[in-house]
Amino acid sequence: MVDNAAKTDHAPLVVLGWDAATWDLASRWLAEGKLPHLARLMERGASGTIRSTALPVSPAAWSTIITGQNPGRHGVFDWFARKPGSYQVEYVHTGQIKARPVWEYFNRGGRRIGVFNLPMLYPAVPLDGFMFSGLAAPDAHADGFAYPSELIAELERAIGPFRHAETAIYRYGDERAYLDDMLALLDYQRRALLYLIEHHPCDAYLLVLMQIDHAQHKFWRYLSPDYPGYDPRRDGEFADAIEQVYRTMDALLGDLVIALGEEVNYIVLSDHGGGPVHGIMYINRWLHEIGMLHLHDDPRTRLKLWLARTDLIGRAYRLVSRLGLGWVANLVSKPARNKVVSSFLGFEDIDWSRTRAYARGAFGQIFINLEGREPQGIVKPGDEYRQVVTELVEALRALPHPDTGAPLIDVIHLREEIFSGPYMEQAADIVFSIQGYLYQASVKMGLESESILGKSEYQDSGGHRPEGILVMAGPDVCSGGEVKDAAVVDVLPTMLALAGLPIPDDLDGRVWLEALTPARRSMVHYIRAQSDDEGGKAAPAMSAEERLELEKRLRDLGYLG
Ligand SMILES: [Zn+2]
Repeated sequence: MVDNAAKTDHAPLVVLGWDAATWDLASRWLAEGKLPHLARLMERGASGTIRSTALPVSPAAWSTIITGQNPGRHGVFDWFARKPGSYQVEYVHTGQIKARPVWEYFNRGGRRIGVFNLPMLYPAVPLDGFMFSGLAAPDAHADGFAYPSELIAELERAIGPFRHAETAIYRYGDERAYLDDMLALLDYQRRALLYLIEHHPCDAYLLVLMQIDHAQHKFWRYLSPDYPGYDPRRDGEFADAIEQVYRTMDALLGDLVIALGEEVNYIVLSDHGGGPVHGIMYINRWLHEIGMLHLHDDPRTRLKLWLARTDLIGRAYRLVSRLGLGWVANLVSKPARNKVVSSFLGFEDIDWSRTRAYARGAFGQIFINLEGREPQGIVKPGDEYRQVVTELVEALRALPHPDTGAPLIDVIHLREEIFSGPYMEQAADIVFSIQGYLYQASVKMGLESESILGKSEYQDSGGHRPEGILVMAGPDVCSGGEVKDAAVVDVLPTMLALAGLPIPDDLDGRVWLEALTPARRSMVHYIRAQSDDEGGKAAPAMSAEERLELEKRLRDLGYLG
């Protein structure tokens, strides 16, 4: 029901996503008075820590934020999804979000909504309001990047050539260009958002900025001399790189509040937190060592294995990765690149007829080679599946850190403990974190490495943590409150409550009632979910070329192994 009278009774809503922001850093700079606009919101409103999805990966967490459902019900677990009937994956896009997204709830309630830069969104879908794709888009001039598509040309006329992602590549020893590019992009986005708010006003906005995430991935090493390998002669120069990004984000928040006023409900949040990363774990190599994964016994694979063990390939790979793959890609011809890449042991070298388990993704994720689900599955569902899972969990628990001997794996989950819903088959069977996320996972076999742990890929020194930040303030938010036990799955129901829209009773999340004023709390109402609530309108799939471009972009950023 469109209720125009009610529309004017509800304050506009702004949800501002600071991807990967963490209290571990923000608290320090708040205390030093360096984030005055965030501090002002905290004084006026409520704040807390927000828990990410069980896999703290941006597409999974943001898809949960916009649907109020766990990944088992929206189907997005990572940057990729399994291609049915193969061991291949396809990269995330709008059409893979299977649960009803926030813009459909708002539009149904007669509210316009502006959606900006959510990393897994591409293509943009028609809606009442506007939508700009995020990182998943091949480039800003691709078909379907924005809705309405004329907005790109309009922004270009108003504020200059459209930008949607960093173009510089970070390299250790050549950091300045990347940092400058990141801040220049943020300035473009600031002007774009102020333009959109002025010329295309909406009742609600969901705006995401990725620079904190990218800065933390690359610049964590400079934060403190405690970081392994810290070079006091030069690393100090970038000690404030992440701080600069937080402060610029805070200034942007201040500009939004000036443009929209304080009679607006604001939520500033991150989809997951961030922290240092010291290296990676070669999970497939470990599975090979314990006999869960086998390689082909043919001359080609044996040659690769020998090359790997003699470290020839390892050295070539480390060179390529030290230079930054994206940068090398411009210098090395495609056939030469393919030659280097194909000389690594990869999925095509796995003998599936003898393999019971394999790993994929940037976090601890093990998939069982299950009969009937995997194209060449050998583990029978039922008892045999449970036995393999139990064996793996016990082996993971017993696994020591190769240097310290301390347990390497801390939290281990079976997928049915953390996910539920019709898309469970997409999930990994076992999900775990490695030394409190101090290590990420690599999809490479890593046989050239001295141990199952190796150096960070893409020169990352930071990564994700499950705990993000949450600050909310506005006419419907109590002041001085703390939001306890908040989770990303709660964002959608809370947005609906703040907007005065009915909340369907089948959402996995809850409304943060404790943060709402008594007047707003009394207006919160629930409805029975409609059985036709399929949501996630089918969006056109990406072309093969667009997928390749996206894959390259994600690789350059270090998201894909
Ligand atoms: Zn993220």
